Amino acid sequence: MRLSRYFLPVLKETPADAQIASHRLMLRAGMIKQQQAGIYSWLPLGFKVLKRIEQIVHEEQVRAGHIPLLMPTLQPADLWQESGRYDAYGPEMLRIKDRHGRDMLYGPTNEEMITDIFRSHVESYKSLPLTLYHIQWKFRDEVRPRFGVMRGREFLMKDGYNFDLTKEDALHAYNRHMVSYLRTYERMGLTAIPMRADSGPIGGDDTHEFLVLAETGESEVFYDAQVPDLKLGERRVDYDNRDEVAGICEEFTTLYARTDETHDEALFNAIPEERRRVGRGIEVGQIFYFGTKYSEAMGATVNTPDQGRVPVHMGSHGIGVSRLVGALIEANHDDKGIIWPEGVTPFHVGIVNLKQGDVSCDSACEALYRAFVEAGLEPLYDDRAERAGAKFATMDLIGLPWRITVGPRGIASGKVELTSRRTGESEEMTSEEAVEKVAAIYAAL
Ligand code: ATP
Ligand code: MG
Repeated sequence: MRLSRYFLPVLKETPADAQIASHRLMLRAGMIKQQQAGIYSWLPLGFKVLKRIEQIVHEEQVRAGHIPLLMPTLQPADLWQESGRYDAYGPEMLRIKDRHGRDMLYGPTNEEMITDIFRSHVESYKSLPLTLYHIQWKFRDEVRPRFGVMRGREFLMKDGYNFDLTKEDALHAYNRHMVSYLRTYERMGLTAIPMRADSGPIGGDDTHEFLVLAETGESEVFYDAQVPDLKLGERRVDYDNRDEVAGICEEFTTLYARTDETHDEALFNAIPEERRRVGRGIEVGQIFYFGTKYSEAMGATVNTPDQGRVPVHMGSHGIGVSRLVGALIEANHDDKGIIWPEGVTPFHVGIVNLKQGDVSCDSACEALYRAFVEAGLEPLYDDRAERAGAKFATMDLIGLPWRITVGPRGIASGKVELTSRRTGESEEMTSEEAVEKVAAIYAAL
């Protein structure tokens, strides 16, 4: 993409009403525009990051054996009357009437609808195990929408639902989700810690939230200092291998890590004092096992091998896709702007032409641009007739991890400069070397 032809409405001034860094930076970098409290348009740069996150979430769900589908945002009220949640949900639910006076709602979550799909089409235990998920917009009329996309009213969520014959099978699904989530966040360059949590209105006994440590997080968290160092790394997980998956979950949940809802002072104090940490965290996902709560209420039953009929064991599992954009920025920024991890960056590399209109600089930039496209990468070329300072400021603000600077002095000796946004370190090299180095970094992801 050439910046002169892109739509990147960056703001010079810091927006006064944005309280936290991610919100300020998303507005300043032209990623979002607020349309109403808690409701945003995703401008091109923000939309690109959202799509990258969505793609990683999809890939890791499919890898775990989960099946994508798409349910609508608008749901009929009667499904929620069946489960008893139509009244229980309260004012967070946006209720709507259609022209015939029928009660509808903008879905805050989809347990009822997915259970309805299941009961309409699945008869036998032979169709199990089954995990269906979608990535769809949700609406929750939050009392205090704030912090930009972190606590919106309309937000994008991945929500998945497992259907299993036995509790044991459903707990394997729970563990599978935990591992697939750990992998998902790691690919984004994020450390999200699974913490034992409270189940709230969804119900059930087993639940973990995934928290990204950040001072601006809304939850207070208590954890062992060794927990954030746990990593899946290069491990290849066989998601059908129950012992392997359960073993990884144990590895990640044995040390103490809890939110204030489930915090246990005595257990916490059993950790050696120098390892006790109290901090704040952003919830970027949550997994639940709730047994037969919805399947019993809504008649989602299957035939068993011995001719019986039983309600299925279920769980639901959510990732805050749009919240992750904010959480990623909270975890990756400095006073100049955003610093995207390579896994989610909107463009792979920025090209800054210090002397637009100079024949040798222009042609070196064009050649770099073509070489990156041929390498399967997306460059953002700042080809505007702007001062160097303004170009650097824009690149630093939007946070592409790698920048190539092309200027007349370097070109005279056949060199360009490759700069890391994270470290600020620059290195001179030929254009070919720069392309090779950047391509190798992305190929290794
Ligand atoms: P919270 O406690 O933050 O209100 P929740 O526990 O009600 O969230 P879940 O039902 O667990 O939310 O939804 C799954 C995920 O969706 C959450 O982990 C979070 O990342 C995201 N999410 C929930 N509410 C919002 C919101 N208002 N804006 C953006 N993302 C949200
Ligand atoms: Mg939650």
